[in-house]
Amino acid sequence: MSLLDRGENALPENCRRLVVLGSSKVGKSAIVSRFLYDQFDGIYTPTVENFYQKIYKIRGETYRLDILDTSGFHPFPAMRRLSYVTADLFLLVYDVSSRESFEEAKKILQQLQEYCSQTMPVSCHLPPPLVLVGNKFDLAKNRAIHCAESLTILAGRPMCDFVETSAMLNINIDEAFVRLFELADLPPEMSPALHRKVTPSYDGSGTKKGLFGFVNRKISEACGAVHPNARRPSMNTDLLMAQNRKSFLASQIRRSSPLPKKKKSKFTPLLVAVCW
Ligand code: GDP
Ligand code: MG
Repeated sequence: MSLLDRGENALPENCRRLVVLGSSKVGKSAIVSRFLYDQFDGIYTPTVENFYQKIYKIRGETYRLDILDTSGFHPFPAMRRLSYVTADLFLLVYDVSSRESFEEAKKILQQLQEYCSQTMPVSCHLPPPLVLVGNKFDLAKNRAIHCAESLTILAGRPMCDFVETSAMLNINIDEAFVRLFELADLPPEMSPALHRKVTPSYDGSGTKKGLFGFVNRKISEACGAVHPNARRPSMNTDLLMAQNRKSFLASQIRRSSPLPKKKKSKFTPLLVAVCW
């Protein structure tokens, strides 16, 4: 079975929807492009809403990561709300050289907190994992926001972390995702440095055919492929899938402990010594 087919049939508990939020032009699409393709395009193309899917085979199990790269404009509040409802993980991005983008990130964080307190079952206790990303670190000499200020807006929120990145110079992009996966208890192999990139048609059998078709090598490492033409499911399917994942995750939390231990952020932003 190809990795793509596996992705279709992945167990709900191994699927997550990551939503990338933040005002426009802060580098959301650039961060996603670095993560998925290790590419940076210096040209700004306004995003309406882009949907990506990455499928992994890790230690014999299939995982699927859906990524929703939002526009940042949000003329329709309902659209942003739908992205909150269907998300399991968040990257909230601002530009370190733009106070305006930071203020927008603060507003979004506030909205998210209100949304979570209204909708999360009491049994969950924990808000969805979130990493606050100060992008365009390469412009730090013109910085408008210092790390200390970014940390204050996360104070008291469990399941969150902070990192400064540069999508342009590829600084800390992997780190932002690693921290998110760690908060979400996802396998570390999902980060680009820790798995092999394969084609979507790779059958994930763990073997590689040699000359004359003989299976001559056992491959046990984790692998992952980007879906070549993933499309966001219809609104109904989207909501249904989110409901399935969330109820599974909630039941897991309930089973593991009646009062789950609050996951605290490490709050050890890399580069903190440089920017303070
Ligand atoms: P989005 O609207 O948040 O998705 O922003 P984009 O990813 O489209 O990026 C907006 C602009 O910022 C583009 O011209 C990018 O080339 C540029 N950009 C993105 N990331 C960085 C970065 O880390 N450093 C610098 N200097 N420019 C960046
Ligand atoms: Mg964009």
